[in-house]
Amino acid sequence: MAKNHIELQSDTQTRPTPAMREAMASAEVGDEQGFNDPTVNALTERVAELFGKERAVFLPSGTMCNQISAAVHCGPGDEIIAERSAHIIGVEAGGASVLARAAPHPIDGERGVFTAEQAEAAIRFPSRYAPRSRVISIEQTANLVGGTVWPLDTVRQIVGVAQDHGLKMHMDGARVLNAVVASGVSAKDYAQGFDSVWVDLSKGLGCPVGAVLAGSSDFIDQAWRWKQRVGGSMRQAGIIAAAGVYALDHHVERLAEDHANAKLLATCLASVPGLGVEPAHVDTNIVIIDVSASGSDAPTWSQRLGEEGVRLSPIGLNTLRALTHLDVTRKEVEQAAEIFKRLGEGELAAA
Ligand SMILES: *Cc1c(COP(=O)(O)O)cnc(C)c1O
Repeated sequence: MAKNHIELQSDTQTRPTPAMREAMASAEVGDEQGFNDPTVNALTERVAELFGKERAVFLPSGTMCNQISAAVHCGPGDEIIAERSAHIIGVEAGGASVLARAAPHPIDGERGVFTAEQAEAAIRFPSRYAPRSRVISIEQTANLVGGTVWPLDTVRQIVGVAQDHGLKMHMDGARVLNAVVASGVSAKDYAQGFDSVWVDLSKGLGCPVGAVLAGSSDFIDQAWRWKQRVGGSMRQAGIIAAAGVYALDHHVERLAEDHANAKLLATCLASVPGLGVEPAHVDTNIVIIDVSASGSDAPTWSQRLGEEGVRLSPIGLNTLRALTHLDVTRKEVEQAAEIFKRLGEGELAAA
């Protein structure tokens, strides 16, 4: 089905390509929860290998990967240390407090990235009075602050801190492959020392649904109990896993195009009066646009852009977020930038 707008709202808006649908239609399938679906098995082996972990489990969503990891790692009253903007803190309906009965411990990082010193300072001194610090979670890339890539050095230092204090390391790797393509660091190197790590298939990889969580064999056994408990066990899931296998073969290297398109968008928007955009801060496929110096707020911008055929969402009163992905061409990015320019110099200009 053709779309009649430029879709910059999210990389979740991609639709499966004809070739991906072909792979799904011809997938060999079996009973996933009996470990008898060959396509799911191929996908999970592939992702375990990608991250250098013993095993992996296929789950319906990235949110479930975060939630199940929290539930395996934490007991009631434990704390999860994460950056304040993290999805596990602010975009999962407080799930970690419900399922794991764990509390978030937010750290203010720099564009979503905190330091090993900050992580160490957030760990509580063991005491009867204090919650127990249990997990340090990092989000690679950091989504709501603009797709920042965590430097490998920082990641390694934080893993060292966690090991010194007996904490678990968790990676929300929803867009870890964007980080891999942008930095040239392998997924295995990023995941070294992590107790749990996952990748989303339904973001830049372009699959309709699914995420894969990896870790030690023991961790995955425990994750399976939670998958069963929360209703995440599936049947002939090879139909959707086939999209994941296809995406790992065909949609990883091309993420570089999305990054180039995001950079192009940021560069064009930086010259529009009233828009605050930092092209140098665009590491991957996410562009943050501050409209506070223009004549309108972000919801108004979003509405007017929508009427002009450019779809994207406000993420704050004065902030818009644009994402590039496989359903956005370079030409569409240029067209979108033109529309921003027309509005920014015209009806949405500061008085
Ligand atoms: C999208 C996203 C999630 C959740 O993944 P779903 O598949 O949408 O449940 C978690 N973390 C980050 C950083 C994300 O961008």
